[in-house]
Amino acid sequence: MDERDGIKPGKCPECGYRMDAATATRGNARPRPGDLTLCLSCGAILEFDQDVAPVAMPAGRMADLDDDTRHELRRVQLLIRTAIPGKRLLTR
Ligand SMILES: [Zn+2]
Repeated sequence: MDERDGIKPGKCPECGYRMDAATATRGNARPRPGDLTLCLSCGAILEFDQDVAPVAMPAGRMADLDDDTRHELRRVQLLIRTAIPGKRLLTR
């Protein structure tokens, strides 16, 4: 499966990193509108809009998430931010 399938390329609203692929944390599901994602460059928690393009997560959505989802997002965010300290991935 191509990691670019079903995604409309966009830029991270936090850092401008070009996002055109996504990988599920479990299984191989493809993103759908409203699903959450993280920017691989800065770790920002984002949402896929109706076109399945990455956009800023609406204010207040984090508080509405269940504890397991919130914990998983924070865990992956920490991995991204500690794996690439002080640098950005190159944009294409
Ligand atoms: Zn970013």
